[in-house]
Amino acid sequence: MKRSSSNSGTSSSTVTPESVGLSGYPVQIVSVGDEHSFQLEEQNLRAILNKNGVKNKPVVIVSVAGAFRKGKSFLLNFFIRYLNYVMQSENHSDYGWLDDESMALGGFSWRGGAERETTGILMWSEPFLMRTEGGEEVAVLLLDTQGAFDNKSTVKECATIFALSTMLSSIQVYNLHSNIQENDLQHLQLFTEYGKLATSDVSDVKPFQSLLFLVRDWSYPYDYEYGIEGGNQLLGTFLELSPTQHEELQLLREHIRSCFETIDCYLMPHPGLGVATNPRFDGRLSDVEVLFKEHLAQLVPQLLNQENLIIKEISGNKVTAQGLVEYFKVYMEIFKGDTLPEPKSLVRATAEANNLVALTTAKSLYTSKMESTCGGDKPYLNTEQLKEAHKIFKQQSVEAFHSVKKIGGAEFSSSYLEELEHAIDEAWENYSSANDAKSILRTMRTPITLFSCFVI
Ligand code: GDP
Ligand code: MG
Repeated sequence: MKRSSSNSGTSSSTVTPESVGLSGYPVQIVSVGDEHSFQLEEQNLRAILNKNGVKNKPVVIVSVAGAFRKGKSFLLNFFIRYLNYVMQSENHSDYGWLDDESMALGGFSWRGGAERETTGILMWSEPFLMRTEGGEEVAVLLLDTQGAFDNKSTVKECATIFALSTMLSSIQVYNLHSNIQENDLQHLQLFTEYGKLATSDVSDVKPFQSLLFLVRDWSYPYDYEYGIEGGNQLLGTFLELSPTQHEELQLLREHIRSCFETIDCYLMPHPGLGVATNPRFDGRLSDVEVLFKEHLAQLVPQLLNQENLIIKEISGNKVTAQGLVEYFKVYMEIFKGDTLPEPKSLVRATAEANNLVALTTAKSLYTSKMESTCGGDKPYLNTEQLKEAHKIFKQQSVEAFHSVKKIGGAEFSSSYLEELEHAIDEAWENYSSANDAKSILRTMRTPITLFSCFVI
């Protein structure tokens, strides 16, 4: 698996993940080419998601997106510190993860520097295996997105990265500087349309899950307090509908709400001049303002502790690490062009991946049941019995396919159903002839049977 090639900025005291005792590292999973084209680094992605113990786990995907040099990677590195701490501490306690004030901050490359940042999406190489409150084991994946607003063409880049990361995450942190602006909402515009189209098929399911507006360097705590309560009050005023608003603005606000299951806002205080301006700052907490640290201690567990982990769902189905690759592939394909895709094609791509994942899961249900009944290491089974087992497993597999909620409707999924039935029938032919072969072998290997044949 290739590491991300971006370095840690221009500061002389480069913090590498190893130097602060981290075993993971950032991996480029979506890269941006010369012509602002997007490329999925499929091998890198598979290397993370197909790890044993990870690939069948439902995923919780936390992404931080927004303009560059606004402290996104810096914050993500506290997510890494928190998750490592919680995974290692026996009682899964939230406390103590910020105790070491002299530890440099490593993980995703932060501090930007003067060089133009690499753009694209990075994933932390080590999924964090955690248990949700309900006891389900999940893999928590962290996404760092990098977009630069340095010239006109990158506006599309930013919108695309933002769109992709929102579609692929279960918790999207929209990192903003100083306040929420109207154009920040406009980045959400694509989703509002998408939401309308996607929800018409799978009613009662909102297309996206959790969105957190995270306002950095909030400087009006007397108007709205730091933290989530103040943030939600501010957000309320922003998403409020008023009869004097232009109809377009009203619609935008209504649709944003209809796209996400939860929308919150958190107001973060300024971390202090040491963080913002000192070129030798290495992330140690002793150089960070107390108020900022207090809010880190609130914000991070609010997003990531057991009770708050949100499993990624697409059209109401939990996504596993393995399944996630399919979604990445189809979304990347449609974001490749020169313009942002039409919401219609986004919905179609989701429908395709959705059906494909349902097909693969249903098919592997059939094969795993058949394997444990008549696999290579199993003895010969009476033909009638085997046929009966096949019929039952086929039916269960088809039911499993139907039980997955799908967008695109029954008509769209009918060709996938046909493909499933065809694949099962083909597999059945193989199982059936392998079983027959066992019978012949058995007969040949057992002289008594041979002999008894002659007697009869
Ligand atoms: P990214 O490009 O958004 O990922 O930004 P980085 O995480 O690389 O941080 C860029 C710079 O912002 C670094 O010098 C950090 O020390 C600094 N920084 C981190 N968090 C904050 C914050 O909340 N406010 C301010 N003003 N600076 C921050
Ligand atoms: Mg960054």
